[in-house]
Amino acid sequence: MKYISTRGQAEALNFEGVLMAGLARDGGLYVPEAFPKFSADDFRAMRGLSYAEIALRVMTPFVGDCIAGADLKKIIDEAYSTFVHHDVSPLVQIGPNHFLMQLYHGPTLAFKDVAMQVLGRFYDYVLNKRDKHITVVGATSGDTGSAAIEAIRGRSRTSIFIMHPHNRTSEVQRRQMTTVDAANVHNIAVKGTFDDCQNILKAMFNDHAFRDEIALSGVNSINWARIMPQIVYYVASAIQLGAPDREVNFTVPTGNFGDIFAGYCAKQLGLPIEKLVIASNSNDILTRVMNTGEHKLGEVHPTMSPSMDIQISSNFERLLFDIYGRDGAKIASLMNELKETGEFNIDAALLADARQLFAAQRVSEDETLAAIRKVYDQTEMLVDPHTAVGIEAAWREIKTADDKATPMITLSTAHPAKFPDNVEKATGVRPPLPKHLESLYELDERFDVLANDVDVVKSHIRAKLADEVPA
Ligand SMILES: *Cc1c(COP(=O)(O)O)cnc(C)c1O
Repeated sequence: MKYISTRGQAEALNFEGVLMAGLARDGGLYVPEAFPKFSADDFRAMRGLSYAEIALRVMTPFVGDCIAGADLKKIIDEAYSTFVHHDVSPLVQIGPNHFLMQLYHGPTLAFKDVAMQVLGRFYDYVLNKRDKHITVVGATSGDTGSAAIEAIRGRSRTSIFIMHPHNRTSEVQRRQMTTVDAANVHNIAVKGTFDDCQNILKAMFNDHAFRDEIALSGVNSINWARIMPQIVYYVASAIQLGAPDREVNFTVPTGNFGDIFAGYCAKQLGLPIEKLVIASNSNDILTRVMNTGEHKLGEVHPTMSPSMDIQISSNFERLLFDIYGRDGAKIASLMNELKETGEFNIDAALLADARQLFAAQRVSEDETLAAIRKVYDQTEMLVDPHTAVGIEAAWREIKTADDKATPMITLSTAHPAKFPDNVEKATGVRPPLPKHLESLYELDERFDVLANDVDVVKSHIRAKLADEVPA
């Protein structure tokens, strides 16, 4: 299988190539040149299989001949054995024909583990084959950093540096990163915001000499290898509820558009998805663009669902590429317009087509708290604020749906114990941390506080690498 860039200029790569490249050299994102197709019988044959077995079937055509079948199976089996729930993505019913898909049973309690646990092992596999070492640098507002650190800790061919905004993450999120004691793990607290961290990261990627010097790689969801493993849980859950002989709907708490784009990919494989609902918090650029066609950047508002506090949803470019008939030159010009003017508009007829599949809902802070409370009152279950945004959006869609026979699956993206303060505020109940994280508050933290300055961060990374990697 080949992957092409959404901006039409970069060379096509195979799976191994896109895994290592992350972003394409023309600034675009890699997508499959053509989606593999699964027949109804292919899906029926997955009924009753384990999560890992379904994962192997779904990922094989995307990986192509880059990883031998037996090795891919081993990677997948090991990755999902780190999850405490045997089903990896269990469904729990919370209302008539409404299900939550719990994606937070991995080591760091958010859905990011589902992809990151295989990504860390893919890196090892390819680096061993190539006899290479890479430096992963990432910026995080919360969940990506801990999931990446957990997946890469202790791996000899990879060093990882994660920048988080100093004093601006939740304490649980920070401790999950800074209490990891491994020589290849480095935490940097930048005196600035998440946007500052991201700007430093982009500047490093654009400094080609530095990029080559440290063999820089990235673990955010612009990397196709982050999206691909997420397609699996859409397939697995739909099959449990009767696909391919019954349609399903999904509602997805959305920030960078990576997770819901994986749902779109599942639809391209042939899975009968009727609606994909984008659930936004008050950072609602995606809701606005789907409802009006106007894609206009605003200010980032801090909310109680911080992993969705984002203005530029990078993966939206992948959908836009398909909306515009895979015209890379057109996407490059829209992205240029966005950079110059802060906005662009989607053609009305093309948008109307996209809205056959996508719906979008914005959920306020008050509505988020109310949803946490209502779920608790009705089911005695605690849900985190990101999940609550999804649930409220799903309730609205269910209320107005013409066809109530199609089940709704809302993605539950984080464990409530990751955001205990707001869960307690809504319900009066403080969710306890799972057993394997009970010691989080007793462990020593390790991080360096650095100025918001790319040169300071670069020198720091060079110095740490010199200590860590024998020359
Ligand atoms: C990352 C994250 C999201 C948003 O996912 P995207 O792929 O960025 O749209 C939602 N909820 C939680 C808990 C997250 O960590």
